[in-house]
Amino acid sequence: MIALEVLLDVICCACGEQLAVTVRCEGEGLMDGPDEKALASLACPYCHQMNHVIFAPESGEVVEVLSRLRIGRMPEPSLN
Ligand SMILES: [Zn+2]
Repeated sequence: MIALEVLLDVICCACGEQLAVTVRCEGEGLMDGPDEKALASLACPYCHQMNHVIFAPESGEVVEVLSRLRIGRMPEPSLN
């Protein structure tokens, strides 16, 4: 089993506070390639809004923070 701890710098999608969270990723498929993305859901400690964070497990780079999950449809990655 592959396990990886990733430090994420997330800006809360609701209140704009910066959250530094460590998430633990594990499971098959984690290291499938550089384009593999993982999802972590965390509640903001300031406003308690759920943030669904899509990130690259290898680099810890945050791809997108969503306030709601769009089930069945992955968001387009943005390169800005
Ligand atoms: Zn917040």
